[in-house]
Amino acid sequence: MVGDRLHGVDVDGRSHAIRAAVIGAGMGGILAAIKLRERGIACVVFEKGDGFGGTWRENTYPGLACDVSAHWYTYSFARNPDWKSLMADGPDIRDYFDRVAREYGIDAITRFGQEVADLRYHDGGWILETVQGHRERFDVVIAATGVLHHPNVPRFEGMDSFAGDLFHSARWDHSVALDDRRIGVVGTGSTAAQLTSALVPRARRFDLFQRTAQWVLPRENVPYSDDERRRFRENPEELEALVAELRAKTLEGYAAAVIDVDSPELAAIERLCRENLETVRDPELRKRLTPDYRAACKRLVISGTFYDAIQQENAHLVTAPIRRIEPEGLRTEDGVLHDLDVLVLATGFQVDRFIRPTTVAGRGGVSLDDVWADGPHAYLSVSLPDFPNLFLLNGPNSPIGNFSLVEVAQHQIEYILKLIEGITRGDYAEVCVKEEAMRRFEDERCAAARRTVWVTGCDSWYLDKRGVPASWTFSYDRFETEMARPRMEDFETR
Ligand code: NAP
Repeated sequence: MVGDRLHGVDVDGRSHAIRAAVIGAGMGGILAAIKLRERGIACVVFEKGDGFGGTWRENTYPGLACDVSAHWYTYSFARNPDWKSLMADGPDIRDYFDRVAREYGIDAITRFGQEVADLRYHDGGWILETVQGHRERFDVVIAATGVLHHPNVPRFEGMDSFAGDLFHSARWDHSVALDDRRIGVVGTGSTAAQLTSALVPRARRFDLFQRTAQWVLPRENVPYSDDERRRFRENPEELEALVAELRAKTLEGYAAAVIDVDSPELAAIERLCRENLETVRDPELRKRLTPDYRAACKRLVISGTFYDAIQQENAHLVTAPIRRIEPEGLRTEDGVLHDLDVLVLATGFQVDRFIRPTTVAGRGGVSLDDVWADGPHAYLSVSLPDFPNLFLLNGPNSPIGNFSLVEVAQHQIEYILKLIEGITRGDYAEVCVKEEAMRRFEDERCAAARRTVWVTGCDSWYLDKRGVPASWTFSYDRFETEMARPRMEDFETR
């Protein structure tokens, strides 16, 4: 059924009610729905899963946590004085997003179990169709479909022959016993580091299959006392001061470091990582854990427990390359068979699949798959030529890494709302970035990439097919300045 629009959108200077679809009910989708409704814009959220939380709903692995400080990884309009510690556990974060969504009534406008299959721009609006057969027209679409969404599952030879249990970290099988078993984890990213700390104390034997060593920045997860939590509840200014402090610490250090390889901030991060590595007692193990590229080239692993865990007697770092998987376990190129009961692939995500597999056709039938044949891009991460009134949250080339993506999304939604307000004011009926502005932005972004730490000789999910970092390559200040208000001369309106 084609849903009714509340009103038409005529460019006549009067105020116009419009309807928006939000795709995804994770951190970004919940935010978009709250903010649209705050501005009086009717919206429907489409979520293929059965609950709120996005990445925090899909990832349920042992040790799941967020290594960005919890109070910063929180909507500014819905602070949570009750975070238990500096960095929060995954289930608490999921509960937080679920609670906020319900408090703001987003559950009443969310259609769970509806996966958007197709988006088609037709006659000044978007026709949205779901896999389940729902069809509805909207004036505006906000895609909040997440970055780290589609698991990257390598095809190792013999994978189907494994007699134990094998799954990706983002598809955790909770029916599988872990205590006193032989557990293997492939990968050494942030996920694998958290898994290592959580599983070594439980496993009989734990093998970590490392292809590339990672730099690990130590960070102790300090708990907040009951007294602190009470003060945060009773005194919101104190909580805001804490958020400002946590935010400043990260931005001053990390944000400056990643965009300037000669910066003192990067040197300081490298020093901290090296000092942390020195805590590994066995020189042979230390050597094998030493990366051969610059710190922060790959996303920094932040952990105060990983090195301790990997030094336990039942823990083994395996650096020989993986040859194949056999019924009994995993065989490495040195011929050794590592017997395993459980094998977890902490092998990351396919990050170039923004929005997809949803098919998206813009003005004149332009296909998003064609536009993004060389990789996803978007003007300031939010808009694309020929895709009017389609906006992306945490879209391609957003600031990524050790930032608060909640804050990033909040900046982006305010920017997007300013563009949408031009529609509701009746200034125009459709808006998208001009081709020329898109190209200029992308050229500048790629040029700025040359000074970033991400191109200093490591491979990571930050790099696209061309080897260009798929991220914000400018300063964080510039991100905030750009997001303050749209430069309308860069946009085409009709
Ligand atoms: P990841 O950083 O992409 O790491 C994937 C790991 O799997 C790498 O060590 C990679 O090795 C290895 N790998 C991939 N394919 C392999 C193969 N065929 N054979 C052997 N090893 C293979 O993935 P992730 O750890 O899931 O993290 C992804 C992102 O999620 C993070 O960067 C972060 O942004 C986010 N995350 C955040 C937190 C948090 O606390 N905020 C926690 C977890 C994840 P190579 O390095 O050699 O490629």
